Amino acid sequence: MICPRCQSEDCVMPAEAVLDRIHTMYAACGKCQPDPLFSKDEPFGLTIGSSDLRCVKCQRRPLDAVMGHVLALLIRTGILDRDASLRDVGTPLISFGYPVPYPPRIGNRGVVLVMDYVDKEAAEQIVSEVPEVRGVIKRTGSQEKSVGILDTDKPPHAYELLAGCDIRADVVTSLFGELCIYRAQSEMHIEFPRKSSPKMEILDSLYIRGEITNRTVVDGLAGPGTLGLMCAIGGAKKVILNDAWRPAVESIMLNIEVNRNLLGVKSGWLVDPGKLQKIGNEPVLVGKAGGSLDIEVYQGDFRRLSDVVEPADICLIDPFPAADPKLFAASWKKGKLIVI
Ligand SMILES: [Zn+2]
Ligand SMILES: [Zn+2]
Repeated sequence: MICPRCQSEDCVMPAEAVLDRIHTMYAACGKCQPDPLFSKDEPFGLTIGSSDLRCVKCQRRPLDAVMGHVLALLIRTGILDRDASLRDVGTPLISFGYPVPYPPRIGNRGVVLVMDYVDKEAAEQIVSEVPEVRGVIKRTGSQEKSVGILDTDKPPHAYELLAGCDIRADVVTSLFGELCIYRAQSEMHIEFPRKSSPKMEILDSLYIRGEITNRTVVDGLAGPGTLGLMCAIGGAKKVILNDAWRPAVESIMLNIEVNRNLLGVKSGWLVDPGKLQKIGNEPVLVGKAGGSLDIEVYQGDFRRLSDVVEPADICLIDPFPAADPKLFAASWKKGKLIVI
């Protein structure tokens, strides 16, 4: 599949291809050397180049070797001091994100970096010299501040993509299935999947209580569509996803497309995606999918969604940690509301 950001063919793969490979994607091969077990916090003190610590057979390197290579480049360019540690480099987001109980071995373009200490020139050097780095994002604002929009009347908060591509995916797992969820990481909240996710546990218990299968489910603050599309996997009869933020709506449509064989649907835009507003207000039906279930995608303010959609069995909302869920909950008038 073609990446909507960089038009390459290796950023976006259909979900079934990812799920087939994910269980062994990061494991060492028979020839991989043991992980070097570098300290993350002490001065690194080594100079790692692109052939160092690379496996002769699978050509992959441990994640810390990749980060050490980036660190060497940052020290060379004077951005970091000689006594900098691996932790100073930033946050590596592997794609495809999946929790593994061992140090992951990373292949070509396998990681997107979120960094505090970097400029455009260094970012471009990192992407061209370190083959494992797909893209470099500069963090702006505090680490706690979520990327995206807190509310439709607040200015959006986005990180800056300095070089390469920031489209990456996480594998999300529930009791009733797995999905591959892509997002443009400079414009969307970072949510790395963990072994146990409280949000998925809430969905699991709804599923066990029979509140998803054959039901109409609304995912009101959908982000990239994780909760709503998981309910679709769980046998919902109809799923309505809504978000005001254009990058979220674009991710939802991409995620329906990459997961289409798991969902059993065909999807399409109902509007020209190039003409979407950056932040929607009055909810507009922008995309649809049909097949084993019906999916509708709206762009708009959740507080107005009740006015345009049919009654639903449950409405899930997953607000940012800094948002007050009561502000949203009071506006839902079409059925039971659950704050995730
Ligand atoms: Zn790309
Ligand atoms: Zn190997």
